[in-house]
Formats: sequence, structure tokens, C-alpha cells
Amino acid sequence: MCERKTRILPRAAGLLYPRRCVMCDRLLERDVSMVCRQCRPEIQFITGPTCYRCGRPLEHDTDLYCAGCGIHPRLFLGGFAPFVYDGPVKEAMIRLKYSHRAEYAQFFAQAMYVFGKQFLKQTKPQALIPVPVHRERRILRGYNQAELLAEQLSYITGIPVMKDSIRRVKGTAPQKELGIRQRRKNLSGAFQTAGRRKLPERILIVDDIFTTGSTADAVTAVLLRAGAQKVYFACAAIAAQK
Ligand SMILES: [Zn+2]
Ligand SMILES: [Zn+2]
Repeated sequence: MCERKTRILPRAAGLLYPRRCVMCDRLLERDVSMVCRQCRPEIQFITGPTCYRCGRPLEHDTDLYCAGCGIHPRLFLGGFAPFVYDGPVKEAMIRLKYSHRAEYAQFFAQAMYVFGKQFLKQTKPQALIPVPVHRERRILRGYNQAELLAEQLSYITGIPVMKDSIRRVKGTAPQKELGIRQRRKNLSGAFQTAGRRKLPERILIVDDIFTTGSTADAVTAVLLRAGAQKVYFACAAIAAQK
């Protein structure tokens, strides 16, 4: 029943509300695409060499890892995102998170699938786990953007979503302003396993943005402690190396 709801809603929403550009929110006229003509050239797809561990674009072809993965050992085995977190994509992510533009999730999940098809084929995740938000924040916002992305990705790939297997127990301070060390401290103990369902061996964490990777690592730590063997992540956008 739930799955059916997920399939029908985005289509119904398209009929009821005028279509808007996913990136700039302007009304789309005859555009078939979900991105307007002005935004299309501004979008940064991830191309060229990327970090072997997190999929972040690399500055030098000869590097294997980005600065973050080179300095801090990662717990997740790999991951990817189709877009660089910048320009119109950054604006879209903010709207997906705070401005009730839940319909954007369909577009971004589709992009994640097209970009990560090969990765998914090789790693064969058995479940998608969206990064949870704290209960209070979820009530306030009405939804969790990571969960919307996971549901849409599940619809495309057929991989089930396990959304109640972990929860956020600590309302953490906004990560944006913090350095990597502080982020790790901020996140320690923020996630816990929930429910009694056994975790499968291979899991794909789903989130909207990957910045330092501290969140993906903190969630991975919890999943590994709870019995998962291999943990990967998929995000809609990844921050470029600073
Ligand atoms: Zn636009
Ligand atoms: Zn990396």
C-alpha cells in the first residue's frame, strides 16, 4: 500500500500544481525537462577523476583520495553523488530541505540512479537507510528529505527502504559552521539503532548532501555495530574539495 502511494503521489502532484524548475523554482513553460534553460548550463555534474572512497571530484588526476578521506580513515566502503554541491544545485538542496519542495526528490533520486547505476550493480546493497533527522525537527519540517530520496530511489531500483532501523537521538548543532573534528564530536552518539529487525549485510545510506563525510561515517559506525558488513552511501550532491 505504502509503495503504491509513493508511485502515485509525484505524478498526481504534477497535475495539480504547475511545474517549476527544480533548480531555481521558476515556472516551467513548455520545458519537458525539470530544469529550465537558464539553469541547465550552471549545473555541475561530477565528471573526471573522483576520490576512490567518497566520489568527491579530485583536484589532481594523480591523487587517489580527497583530502578528507586521505586524512581521516573512513568506515564506509564507498559512495557517490551525481552533482557538485554548488550553484543552482545548492539552492535546490536548500529548498528540498526547508521549503516543502518534496517533489524535487524524484528528480534527484533519478539523477542518483543514472549516475550510480554501475556502483549499485557492483556493490549490490540489500537495503537503503536514509539518514534520520531528530524527531522534533521532523515534526517541525513535516518530512525528512533523506527519506524522500530513499523512497524514490527504492521505487526506481526495487531495493527496500529500512527507515526505522536507526534514529537520531541527539539534536546536533548545525554542522555547517564546524570543522571536521568538531563535526565528529558533535555527531558522536547522535545515532542509535532502533527496532529489532536484523540488518542485511550490505547497506546503502541515503542522504541529501555529503560535505565532510562525518555524518555518513557516524551512521556507518552504528550500522556496523548492529551487524551490517558492508556500508556504502549515496547522496544527491557532494561538496567540492576546499
Ligand atoms: Zn531554473
Ligand atoms: Zn573522499
